[in-house]
Amino acid sequence: MEYRVIKKNGDKISTLGFGCMRLASKLGRINEEKATEQIKYAIDQGVNYFDTAYPYHGGESENFLGKVFADKSLRNKVKIATKLPPWSVRTREDMDRILDEQLSKLQVDSIDYYLVHGIMGQDVWDRLKGLGIIDFLDKAIASGKVKNVGFSCHSNLSTFKNVVDDYDWTMCQIQYNYLDEYIQAGREGLMYAEERDIAVFIMEPLRGGSLVGKLPKKVEQEWAKSSVKRSPAEWALKWILNHKEVTCILSGMNVDEHIKENIKVASETEANSLNKEEIDLIESVRDLYKSLTKIPCTACAYCLPCPAGVNIPLCFEKYNDKYMFGTLGARVMYQVQLNGVMSDGNNMASKCVDCGLCESHCPQHIEIRKELKQVSKELEGIPGKILGAVAKRVMKSS
Ligand code: SF4
Ligand code: SF4
Repeated sequence: MEYRVIKKNGDKISTLGFGCMRLASKLGRINEEKATEQIKYAIDQGVNYFDTAYPYHGGESENFLGKVFADKSLRNKVKIATKLPPWSVRTREDMDRILDEQLSKLQVDSIDYYLVHGIMGQDVWDRLKGLGIIDFLDKAIASGKVKNVGFSCHSNLSTFKNVVDDYDWTMCQIQYNYLDEYIQAGREGLMYAEERDIAVFIMEPLRGGSLVGKLPKKVEQEWAKSSVKRSPAEWALKWILNHKEVTCILSGMNVDEHIKENIKVASETEANSLNKEEIDLIESVRDLYKSLTKIPCTACAYCLPCPAGVNIPLCFEKYNDKYMFGTLGARVMYQVQLNGVMSDGNNMASKCVDCGLCESHCPQHIEIRKELKQVSKELEGIPGKILGAVAKRVMKSS
């Protein structure tokens, strides 16, 4: 395993961190036996950073990690990170109450890395400052309940820089991958933090899985041009780790093969190890994706729940699929997954009642209402209705 040093505290962190938001699950609950086995395997391979948050797995992720790391032989090998949810904070007292609850769930006296979770915009940060977040962080460190503080941010570059400047952070977390080099904090934010000795951890390295799995034909053909054979996940992770300014990539892992592959990449990839030919190839794949992707939705689900029941990320996924994989398949799957065949009722774009509640929550600043109208126009209509009726009949008779 490769390790990179956090400048402000000297901690050596594995370049792969275990994200605990999508642990192995069974019947909607954490599959504790499987997830524990995977965590132990990752630790054996040198992974030493575990990232959870208050809402992951409906609040159960922290409880689960508390049980796993009650075993001190495991706990002593790792750093645990969790996060304060700004959306649950209404008063200064809420901050103390939530932190105490998290300490109890994690079964620790002190949290290694404590982040302000998902700062979505300047308004969120200003509100937290007004409620006394700076005082809270100072006291959390002074009391020993927290060892290091950081923040995760999906906001734009200017807000990111403002937050960086407002506190003596040890680390931060940003969305960064080869498709998103210039959105949110992006490359400039990465450099800005690094110049101030703030370690940068990366979330969404595979863009919610859209950079792997079934790829557009053109993208497959582009990757195939390389003389070095690598999976799309390997290319994506290597591109990130090639940046010496990155400390750690967080990956939400629950499939054995993915864990092994991610560990292999993290173990083999040093900063500045990609050559010009490799970087050029990744950039040409990026250009291909950019030309195919219509809506830059990462499926983060911050826009949900929609009061009208629209499954916004799934609508956008099917819409992007249309442009990457073809119209017929996208229309069929849109009907199957969103129109009461496999879904609970109708969750299609046309159910939007234009209330606008979702848009302020979108870290990608997507004009959700406008895009949903386009989704409805292109994937619903008469062909969609016919396909929906056929799909329902097939599913019901099978
Ligand atoms: S604008 Fe439409 S999609 Fe967004 S929350 Fe309101 S009803 Fe749902
Ligand atoms: S529309 Fe925005 S908030 Fe909703 S899932 Fe997509 S990126 Fe996330």
